[in-house]
Amino acid sequence: MQSQATRFRVNGRATLCSDAALLSPSAVEGKPRQPGILVGIDGAYTQCSKACLRSHLWDATRFVDPSGLPKATLNRSPRVSAPFRARPSMLRPMTANAASATACVWAFAEHLLSAAAHPRWLDHPILQAARDAGTLFWMNESPSTRRVAVIGAGMAGISCARRLTDAGCQVHLFDKSRGVGGRMATRRLQWTDRDHQPQQASFDHGTPGFSARSPAFAQFVEQPGLGLMRWQPTLAPGSFQALGGLDLWVATPDMPALCRQLLGEIPITLSCAVDALVQEVAAAPAGTTWRLQSQGQCVGEGFTRVVLALPPAQAAVLLQPHRPNWAVQARRVPMLPCWTLMGVAELQPEAPSWQIAWPQRGPLASIIRNESKPGRQFMPGFVHWVLHATAAWSQTHLEDASEQVLPQLQAALVDWLGHPVSWRQTQVQRWRYASAPREPASSAERCWWDAGAGSSSGLGVCGDWLGGAGVEGAWTSGQALAAAVLA
Ligand SMILES: Cc1cc2nc3c(=O)[nH]c(=O)nc-3n(C[C@H](O)[C@H](O)[C@H](O)COP(=O)(O)OP(=O)(O)OC[C@H]3O[C@@H](n4cnc5c(N)ncnc54)[C@H](O)[C@@H]3O)c2cc1C
Repeated sequence: MQSQATRFRVNGRATLCSDAALLSPSAVEGKPRQPGILVGIDGAYTQCSKACLRSHLWDATRFVDPSGLPKATLNRSPRVSAPFRARPSMLRPMTANAASATACVWAFAEHLLSAAAHPRWLDHPILQAARDAGTLFWMNESPSTRRVAVIGAGMAGISCARRLTDAGCQVHLFDKSRGVGGRMATRRLQWTDRDHQPQQASFDHGTPGFSARSPAFAQFVEQPGLGLMRWQPTLAPGSFQALGGLDLWVATPDMPALCRQLLGEIPITLSCAVDALVQEVAAAPAGTTWRLQSQGQCVGEGFTRVVLALPPAQAAVLLQPHRPNWAVQARRVPMLPCWTLMGVAELQPEAPSWQIAWPQRGPLASIIRNESKPGRQFMPGFVHWVLHATAAWSQTHLEDASEQVLPQLQAALVDWLGHPVSWRQTQVQRWRYASAPREPASSAERCWWDAGAGSSSGLGVCGDWLGGAGVEGAWTSGQALAAAVLA
């Protein structure tokens, strides 16, 4: 409003108007204005004038590119708020999109700091809301100062680590295996052919492939550069229609390739089984930090956040001292086992024309010709079989020795095919925690996250058992936890 510090915002539509009757009240010295501006008002409200002034809301020369916006920092202690006040430029980024609400929040924050207001004001709902929305950070809380340890480099851990890294966090991964991927696994076997020449065959003995049900995961798998290929396998006659019309996706040239691709430049420590988490009180500004231990040795320290991306039984061990209630919940998750047979066999004259079978009864849940998958090695005259036993059969035989399990699974294949199989090489693997129940462990959230100030501050958990089973569930859970860490 002219000559006043008060701002009054009107939202609506303005049109040029020449209606003499409407314009007559605004006549000056008997002369009506011609034309006038007719404003249809949708909404009107007062607005903090300082916000508009300080934000230079209408000064186009001071607008900045939103992608380069600094993140605001507020220090909880007014005593040391000088660095913030000394950088008034940090109060202007909202001019980029002229968001009046943001402008008000910033002006309010500045007022609190410049007046050295009582710290309790910094917990004001307006500031908290801005913090939740990610427009305001407390000092030393910008993503680049968050050091996050992610334990577990399967799909959940890598999905979380990638999103946190892309948001500017410093992430370090740890995994007990020699490579990444977890249950998205591929095993190589040596064998000798008919001419006694050494050969190598590979088998996707964990996830054979996965489907994408949610729009978010479908968008993820369809993006270029991930090395994923669509697989529409020919089903064996009499197979159970497990996919309900959905495509299968496979990573190439092997299943861990997807996790390797997502890992990119993120630092990782492999062959490192983390067996203890220790919370340490560090000097300001870090506050409390986490140290990771393996067999009594420190393998990493100074982390402000820790993400556990592990199957529930393994997560429970690390959670126990810090969140015993989560540990109890995790131990209750009924993960399903799976005995798997990998084998090279000679191709019989009556070779199957199909690529995958999902038997409806018997000990086998799936029978896969691994060499027929996209991007796999094919050796003329040989089949690379991968057989997965059902969860029920695997549970019954969970503690059996490999030598007992192998002939039973071989016999089950012969039963299904109806003819003998000439094996060149075989191996079995027991997956104690192969798959999670379809119903996630916690129906409300897809991850667990403690942002509080207690003994588990900055501790989070993700995995397929929280995200809704399978590779998709693991990815979803990792994404959810990253979003919670960044909030
Ligand atoms: C035989 C089989 C068949 C499957 N079939 C399908 C299917 O058809 N479709 C589908 O979508 N999904 C399938 N799955 C399930 C799918 O593979 C998993 O849901 C998914 O890969 C789980 O990812 P994750 O990151 O949650 O866990 P994981 O992949 O298990 O990753 C956990 C990681 O943590 C590491 N780790 C564990 N303890 C520690 C520790 N103390 N310190 C450091 N690292 C540790 C492990 O080495 C592992 O790399 C199958 C799995 C198996 C085994």
